[in-house]
This record gives sequence, structure tokens and C-alpha cells, in this order.
Amino acid sequence: MAEPVDPIRVLERHLEQWVQAYGSELAVPPGEAVERSAHSEQTIATPEHVATTDAPAAREPEAQPQRRATPDSTAKKETQPTTNPTVTALRELRAEIHDCTKCKLHQGRQTTVFGEGSTTARVMFIGEAPGAREDQTGRPFVGPAGQLLDRILAKAMGLQRPDVFIANLNKCRPPGNRAPEPDEVAACLPYLKRQVELVQPEVLVCLGRSAAQSLLGSTESTTRMRQKQHEYCGIPVIVTWHPAYLLREPSRKRETWEDIKRVNQLLGLPEIPPGQS
Ligand code: SF4
Repeated sequence: MAEPVDPIRVLERHLEQWVQAYGSELAVPPGEAVERSAHSEQTIATPEHVATTDAPAAREPEAQPQRRATPDSTAKKETQPTTNPTVTALRELRAEIHDCTKCKLHQGRQTTVFGEGSTTARVMFIGEAPGAREDQTGRPFVGPAGQLLDRILAKAMGLQRPDVFIANLNKCRPPGNRAPEPDEVAACLPYLKRQVELVQPEVLVCLGRSAAQSLLGSTESTTRMRQKQHEYCGIPVIVTWHPAYLLREPSRKRETWEDIKRVNQLLGLPEIPPGQS
């Protein structure tokens, strides 16, 4: 007769595997220039993916833990006509941001980085600002930190990038990968707030101090903000470490795991995604 499964052991084993996997697998390839500042992340979908997401605006009546965007929902071209008001509004916002000169960051950018994902995403991840590769590609989180974010999504949530929405606080790259200055954050924050308003996620996840402090109007450290559950316009906000920081401080991955479990709880997702035990 098979021994009963001990859920605690399963969780511990999974956590061990997760931590081990992130320890070396995401090391920077030799010779690859990597910015390790908190705003050096990059993404994976083409710029068209974001405002072209043509998934239905209406939400399902019940939470669907493993809801996935269909390929069409993230791959339609910007030129494709749509009757979806959310998609239309996001396209208009993206066009506005593309031409934005509201702060001095526009002077050094190659392109703006609007963000990307499903317009019906249940969870939105918010980073700080584009890094070099994002500036080149126009996509958020496309470097090593982005790869780590992808693995967190897959391993800790059972989701993929098209299932969520990923955006940054600032849409243009700060020179030399410095942190955005207060006037630059103030100028760009309304765009992020508009994105939240349009996508209407059920949970917001702030990656790192800049995003969390700016969205929540807080001056607390990431450590302190992590310990609380916050709200923005009625939406629960979870604060966790930025993936770029996790690459420098792998010891924080356990805390990130705990934070993501809270996100899963809020979304009604399994604590451990199927197939990860
Ligand atoms: S960072 Fe934001 S506010 Fe500043 S120029 Fe870029 S889009 Fe405009």
C-alpha cells in the first residue's frame, strides 16, 4: 500500500528544486554584457503584442486558475482592426507614449517600452524602467532577469508570459541605467496607472522598491513593504524583490517564493502548480 503523501514534504522538495534551479542556471553567459541594476530587465514579446492583444474585455464569471491567453490574443498585429475597447484604448495609449517628451528621458531613448501581455490578464507585474536591451527591442524584461521572471511565472505559478501583463514604471531607459529620478517617475506614473485601469488585473505585483514606492506612495523599504498586503484602487498589491536583484542576491529567492504563493492564493491558483511537485 502506497505511503500517504505528506504535503509539507512535497512543498519542501519543490522549494529546494526551485531554489537550486535558479541558483546557477540563470548565470550570465560569459562575455555577455549584463546590467545588474534593478532597471536592467528586458522582455520577450514584440512591441505589437501589447496593444494588439485582442482578447475579450469581459472577464469570465468565475476565477479560472489556469487560464491561458490563446495565441491569437497576444500575436495580432497592431494594424488589425478591433472592436475591443480595451485593445483600442491600449493602442491609443501606446501611441501617446511612443511620442512622449514629458520628461528628459525621451532624449536618450531608442524606443519606448510600453509593456506587453494579455489585456485580460489577472495579474500585472510592474518593474522599474527599461535597460539597454529593452531600449533596443521595445520589450520589457528580455534579459537574464526577464528569463528569471519567466521561470518564476512557470515554476511558481504555472503561467506563461502571455497569461500576464508586464509593464515598467518608466517607459524610457534612464541613461547609464541609473534609477529614474523623482520628476521622471512623476511624469510617467500616470501612464502606468492608465494601464492598470485598462487591464484591470485582479492582483498587482510590484517588482522592487521603485515600482512599489511610486504606485503605493510609500517611502518604506522593500523588506517592510513585502511584509504587508497593500491595495491600489481596490486591487491587492504584493511587493516582492526585483528579478535583477535576485540574480545578485539568490538568498532572497526563498522570500520571493513566499510572495508568489500569496499571489497564487489571491488568484485562487494552486500553491504548487501542477507538475511542479
Ligand atoms: S519616461 Fe515616461 S514620461 Fe518620460 S519621456 Fe518616457 S514615456 Fe514620457
